[in-house]
Amino acid sequence: MDKVKIFHLNNNKYYIFLEKYKDIVETKIKSNFLTIKKIEEPIIQNNQNNQNNLSINEWEKMETLLQMAKHGFNKVYGWRFTDIHISIKNLELVKTLINDNYNFLKNHNINTEWPKLLNISIENEKKRHAKTTCFLCCKKGHFAIDCKEEYDIDGEYIRCESIISESNISESNKYIKKKYKKKPNTPQKISNKYYSTRKENKIK
Ligand SMILES: [Zn+2]
Repeated sequence: MDKVKIFHLNNNKYYIFLEKYKDIVETKIKSNFLTIKKIEEPIIQNNQNNQNNLSINEWEKMETLLQMAKHGFNKVYGWRFTDIHISIKNLELVKTLINDNYNFLKNHNINTEWPKLLNISIENEKKRHAKTTCFLCCKKGHFAIDCKEEYDIDGEYIRCESIISESNISESNKYIKKKYKKKPNTPQKISNKYYSTRKENKIK
């Protein structure tokens, strides 16, 4: 059977993975400019000789929950939670999963301080949301994927645009969009106008 392993990353985060996907996960980590400090063994031992006998999917899930409770919920990637930032929706899901599997997790010495750590992660995620700027309307407090604004910060109607899906929102899009939006009011245009008026005056 496949095995669950853990990468300890240079930013002190942890990545729970299945041994068969080791190369894929390694490539993903490198593409995010992170490095692997070491490979660690899982908390849960799972083989034919002991009583756990979990499916590989359950093993990865339980190990992820235990490691999250140990290191902090935004410090561990694993199972279905591998986005750069774990969403508030997923943090709520993690809470439900821990409560549903509490006896098993307790038998594996889950950190009893986990509710405190979970609240810290939820609060941090809320703060991150408040600070973010939507690249569609350029207003603060929400991501483009959640944008419900009809007009952007300059009062321009923006709802005629194509439907936004998660896949077409990328960092480069954000950059291009912002750059394009700012163009009509750039100081250069204003100064050109000023310059040409002065020139006209001079000729007169
Ligand atoms: Zn918006």
